[in-house]
Amino acid sequence: MTPPARWPAHPAPVDSEVLSSWLHRIGACYQMSVAELVEHGLGLDPKVADGLDLDPPPALLDIVAERTGVEVCRLRQMSLAGWAPGPADSAEADSPEASPGAFDTYVRSCSVLLEAGKRSKQPAGPWRAWMPRYPLQRACPRCADPTVEGMLLGWRFPLQLSCPHHRCALEACIGFPGGHPAWTGDETPERAVSEAVLAMDRRSGQALATGQVDLPCGTVDAAGWFRLVRTVLDEVATPISCWRSRAVDLRRIWAACGHPLRAAQGRWRPFEHCPWALQSQMLEAAAEAIQLLENGTVTAAGADAGLFVSAPAVEDRRPSKDEEPTDWWAMVRAALQEVVATARTQPGEARALYNFLRCGCREPPEQILATFAGLGIPTAHLSQNHPTVPFG
Ligand SMILES: [Zn+2]
Repeated sequence: MTPPARWPAHPAPVDSEVLSSWLHRIGACYQMSVAELVEHGLGLDPKVADGLDLDPPPALLDIVAERTGVEVCRLRQMSLAGWAPGPADSAEADSPEASPGAFDTYVRSCSVLLEAGKRSKQPAGPWRAWMPRYPLQRACPRCADPTVEGMLLGWRFPLQLSCPHHRCALEACIGFPGGHPAWTGDETPERAVSEAVLAMDRRSGQALATGQVDLPCGTVDAAGWFRLVRTVLDEVATPISCWRSRAVDLRRIWAACGHPLRAAQGRWRPFEHCPWALQSQMLEAAAEAIQLLENGTVTAAGADAGLFVSAPAVEDRRPSKDEEPTDWWAMVRAALQEVVATARTQPGEARALYNFLRCGCREPPEQILATFAGLGIPTAHLSQNHPTVPFG
């Protein structure tokens, strides 16, 4: 049997390059798009080209390996699935949108900053780890020199904020580096990032380059590292009411990165479902949280915190002389802001808040409705009759 012919021209992939970028460069040798290369060069449905960077089908990897001589395991590492597999590589991870339990398994079964079970339990809906709902394409202004080719995994997915080599922020762009990438932002000089961001991105870069990450108290594989980061992202986005007596730690984390608490989100939603403007703030907060955890500024309370600090201190809730007292009223105000924000879009929450006020305040119903209108909460479905079920 005659072995399949190798493609006569196939430039080598660069480190951490995504599969679509590499096939784009190979296709350019034959004046073909990626979809045309998949159809005419591999004999597969061109629609397969849409999911190359997320989770390419094994059949495609087998044929590309035959055409190029690059091993299948190396090819799989050119997609997100090679580094951040779904929950335990189970069957549900084979679906582009994992099952409803996938979020709990991947994100909520680890804990770093908060004790396990202390976070929001809201369902995430259709979701896949690190897969942005809004397409994302960024590049390093210095790496994207015309002489340097390849779109990297950390640029394609919201894994990194900066280029560890050049210590500058990744910028949104259109097109592949090595071609003529067009920057979609203003013509700004290179933007610097914080040391905390550089440290986190350096570890993510190590994960993508070597498959493992050295932490202060141990080594984890790449999949474990990205799962830890995803856990911290969920923790820093957790409503402050869930942090209870640890609220001061959440405030310290967001103050360190200079963004509003929880990126000013009123309603919880998974990191992947946020636009990049919010994702970038949450990544900064996660980086600061890890740095503050490692230098002992915030408490290590999660089961997996031991990878970052040698001996997680037993939490002592007695306030010391130097400790900032917990601002309970600030927590109440923050919780109220979240309730109001949720009530604006969810009639059930609006009704619960209305009934709560009817039972607990002496304001007449019309005054409460006027206050709701002023806050932007729809009032059409609210009854002025006295509620029969308190807060329901
Ligand atoms: Zn760079």
